[in-house]
Amino acid sequence: MNKVRGILIGRMQPVHKGHMQVINKILEEVDEIIIGIGSAQLSYELKNPFTAGERVIMLKKAFVESNIDPSRYYIIPMEDINYNAIWPSHVKMMTPPFSVVYSGNSLVKQLFKENGFNVKNPPLYDRFHLSGTEVRKRMIENSNWEELVPNATIKVINEINGIERLKNLSIKEISDLNK
Ligand code: NAD
Repeated sequence: MNKVRGILIGRMQPVHKGHMQVINKILEEVDEIIIGIGSAQLSYELKNPFTAGERVIMLKKAFVESNIDPSRYYIIPMEDINYNAIWPSHVKMMTPPFSVVYSGNSLVKQLFKENGFNVKNPPLYDRFHLSGTEVRKRMIENSNWEELVPNATIKVINEINGIERLKNLSIKEISDLNK
């Protein structure tokens, strides 16, 4: 029997507990999951501080931490393209074949639905706190960001001096406003 493969595409800036909860939920429904690390070309920006490679390591280590069988997932960095209408074909070209698309993002859902895919809206877990925006905000404000992310993310952020990077970006981007 063919394997049922699902895809979840997210910027994962950074990987947080909401991503891991939804991934575990999806793995109850499919044989294999493809994680597209979205906007792979972006990094060193306030909204996108971490490189695609750094996000791959966070996710890979979080999978190991969650004891998820490595034969059940693929992690693929995915650059944005300028043409929304053909983005689903671009994603298809870059990934193993998949039949189900999981997303909470309305543009992603619309584009894949119109291309004939089975699109599912996975549950959101504590979205008020479990969002990349909240994690990045807490990192800059020195409040407890660690409780929102898997240990794997904490380790990688510490290894790459991620907090310092984000704080520098916030100073730089605020100073850019005065130019
Ligand atoms: P994200 O990291 O914010 O979220 C990704 C997914 O994770 C969500 O859809 C949701 O299903 C899940 N998630 C997040 N928080 C959760 C929580 N608390 N509980 C449960 N699930 C949670 O990423 P995003 O911004 O939605 O990523 C979409 C990507 O697709 C972006 O990189 C975007 O640029 C890309 N995209 C590109 C094009 C193009 O290139 N033309 C077009 C559309 C989208």
